[in-house]
Amino acid sequence: MRYGPDPRHRTRSVRVGGVTLGGGAPVVVQSMTNTDTADVTATVDQVRALAEAGSELVRITVNTEDAARAVPKIRERLDTLGCGVPLIGDFHFNGHLLLGRHPECAEALAKYRINPGNVGTGERRDHQFAAMIEVALRQARPVRIGVNWGSLDKDLVARLMDTNRAAERPRSAGEIMREAMVMSALDNAQRAMQLGLPAEAIVLSVKMSGVQDLIAVYRELASRSDFALHLGLTEAGMGVKGMVASSAALAILLQEGIGDTLRVSLTPEPDAPRSQEVVVAQEILQSLGLREFSPRVTACPGCGRTTSTRFQELTQEIQSHLRTRMPEWRAHYPGVEGLTLAVMGCVVNGPGESKQADIGISLPGTGENPAAPVYVDGVKVATLKGERIAEEFKAMIEAYVERRWGRG
Ligand code: SF4
Repeated sequence: MRYGPDPRHRTRSVRVGGVTLGGGAPVVVQSMTNTDTADVTATVDQVRALAEAGSELVRITVNTEDAARAVPKIRERLDTLGCGVPLIGDFHFNGHLLLGRHPECAEALAKYRINPGNVGTGERRDHQFAAMIEVALRQARPVRIGVNWGSLDKDLVARLMDTNRAAERPRSAGEIMREAMVMSALDNAQRAMQLGLPAEAIVLSVKMSGVQDLIAVYRELASRSDFALHLGLTEAGMGVKGMVASSAALAILLQEGIGDTLRVSLTPEPDAPRSQEVVVAQEILQSLGLREFSPRVTACPGCGRTTSTRFQELTQEIQSHLRTRMPEWRAHYPGVEGLTLAVMGCVVNGPGESKQADIGISLPGTGENPAAPVYVDGVKVATLKGERIAEEFKAMIEAYVERRWGRG
């Protein structure tokens, strides 16, 4: 677990459906669909998949009249299927119109995301922003004021640039842009509060695509306010690149106690499930010791002592067994997330790591006698041999879980 005090308790606590953000609550994992929201069936399917993967909030885009009409149907269908995950509506450009014209959509959503850079310009902007806040007040819903680097309020940037040019010691363009991100979030939060929205119904985010920029703006935002914060590196990218960039940025902020909820914005690879972003978010939190979602598996990287693929296959099989079994285990065995396993390639570090885990197995290494000792609670209890090592080890894991966390 985390060493030292966690300063996250200092932010305001915001209720989103049945989920609490901020105020010291555990950091919440959220995600976003990429289906056409007007397609009720596809959206319901993806929301369920994301929720089943562990997403505690799911955001859907609400960009058209058809999408707004679909939202209450999506909510109803999810409820019928026993999926109570709160839905967040993502609004840009026409949010004031859609929320105003479709009160049943506004009601079905647990939170509204408003991008202040995409609300309009000049007087229209104020009017349209106020219209969305009024709906939030009427429906008693929180809002996220989500500033994004790619759609930053141009008027604000121009104003700051002009002031900067006239300054005795002008700051760099990058500094001005970062200041504009923070100011946009804080100014719009103030505006929402002037319209009557309590601070406990406001979440802020300032998403950027550069890791160092992101860290800088969130540090600044956290030092200048106590609003609950939503973290995310926007447009993180695809595959390994996106995962590493997100992990690097978010881990630093989370470790400093900044961030009450997070989303990992991965571009999915064509064959990868959307829920991958949920798994990455969970892994970031679990690696930092901030949450426990699934049993922790210690596995060595393998080396010249594991030239066969047997060790890799065993590790993969155990990992996927845990993921498959977790939904049922979670329901029947409270606390099972704390299970620790070791799957090791050879006797060099295998027995040592296995003894540290609740249950561990060590393969013998290439060319050695195919016998794999299994340790339970630090004690060697069996030596598995032959082709069925994986099956037998999985059965031992099942027995351990039942014995330790079963009601009997
Ligand atoms: S435990 Fe054995 S197989 Fe695994 S990395 Fe260490 S020496 Fe290599």
